[in-house]
Amino acid sequence: MNQQFERPTIKKLNPGMPSKHGMAPSFKPLSAIDGVDVESMLAQYGSPLYIYSEQTIRRTVKQFKQAFQMRYPKVQLAWSYKTNYLSAVCRIFHQEGSLAEVVSGFEYQKAIDMGVSGEHILFNGPDKSEADLELAARNGSFIHIDHFDELFTLAQICEKKNIEANVAIRVNMDIGIYPRWDRFGFNYENGEAWEALNRIMLNPKLNLVGLHTHIGTYMMTADAYRIAALKLTDLAVNVDKKYGHAIKYIDMGGGFASKNTLRGAYLSGEDTTPSFDEYAEAITTAIISSQIKPANMPLLILETGRALIDDAGYIAGTVLANKRLSDGNRATILDVGVNLLFTAFWYDHKIQPTRYIAGNPEETTLYGPLCMNIDVIRYSMQFPPLKRGDHFVISRVGAYNNTQWMQFITLRPNVVLIDTNGQTGVIRKAENLDSITMHEEVPEHLKNFNL
Ligand SMILES: *Cc1c(COP(=O)(O)O)cnc(C)c1O
Repeated sequence: MNQQFERPTIKKLNPGMPSKHGMAPSFKPLSAIDGVDVESMLAQYGSPLYIYSEQTIRRTVKQFKQAFQMRYPKVQLAWSYKTNYLSAVCRIFHQEGSLAEVVSGFEYQKAIDMGVSGEHILFNGPDKSEADLELAARNGSFIHIDHFDELFTLAQICEKKNIEANVAIRVNMDIGIYPRWDRFGFNYENGEAWEALNRIMLNPKLNLVGLHTHIGTYMMTADAYRIAALKLTDLAVNVDKKYGHAIKYIDMGGGFASKNTLRGAYLSGEDTTPSFDEYAEAITTAIISSQIKPANMPLLILETGRALIDDAGYIAGTVLANKRLSDGNRATILDVGVNLLFTAFWYDHKIQPTRYIAGNPEETTLYGPLCMNIDVIRYSMQFPPLKRGDHFVISRVGAYNNTQWMQFITLRPNVVLIDTNGQTGVIRKAENLDSITMHEEVPEHLKNFNL
């Protein structure tokens, strides 16, 4: 084995001592996921590699559903496509009974393309084209109207084409969390939501079926949902009073926090995130205590995203190099950069070696492979001395990364699924040069050059 010289540094060692940040981090290796050896998967499918656990997805959906179903009789989940629209992932959620929740024409098409029927799609978001609205109306999808321009456009389409649409409105409200998410939907406090409901009720082509809200993302307090549910039930009660019309569903959106730790947070997300039971308790208590008549108790819809998929996703990779920064601090360069792990901007992701590493952990900055200063996976964490070629696994990366990743400097790698029998298979193939150039056109006069 060839010995490499490394400039000596002097540092204080505090093995196992609790500091103001709690106990010293543990460097337990993560050598297998669902019993499948990580290094073998890297050898077979290449590095870096996204890995999903089907077992974890199914278990998490069931736990979430149970928390609500034991407290409320009519519960329906919908999978938020933008959180992760890999087809295999969406299909697991659909097999578990989730509807499709989409926020663009593209996502709507993707759901239809996979065989989800129109009446199983909830269509959210501020950007629905006239063609999108007409298609969704004809398919019997649930159109969650975001603003008055959309309401008027949809009303015109229905009038002109003589069709009807199933609609809900998205409502934003003061839930005691700031900054407020008031850019989506109609405001509750200033009467806008009530006005929208009246316009819909007075239009014979628009069938008011639901009320929707999505109060934010990574919500750390369950009480915010209780306040939101109170305000939606108040609207439902008023619609019934004035029109004798029962609202079929109340959709509380998503935003349930995953157990990831926010960047720079003092305590770990594992200790601070509310449980599914706490969210369910807050929401269902508000609805059952409302003035909605027992015969009209609405279906409760939850649009689940990050909380149901984060834990099921991992990215494994390889150490490219170690170096000393000018201040003597250790830097480790990984083959996973922020182009593949967008959530590194928000979270202090958990990173573990795939096997036991001898030597003292040391304050280390973990960089990605990009030629960009912002390409940092972790600022300064205690990390064991992995060498070039050693492997690591980053946990809880299932939400938003495979939709927000970008092709930049490197190509996107394979994504594999470990099924419930422990078998692995590719669910998204690694890109190659062709995947990029197939979308390009070269003008005639640029076809040749002589250097
Ligand atoms: C993104 C989104 C969700 C899912 O959000 P999470 O924070 O991932 O749970 C649900 N509903 C709507 C309308 C969304 O835009």
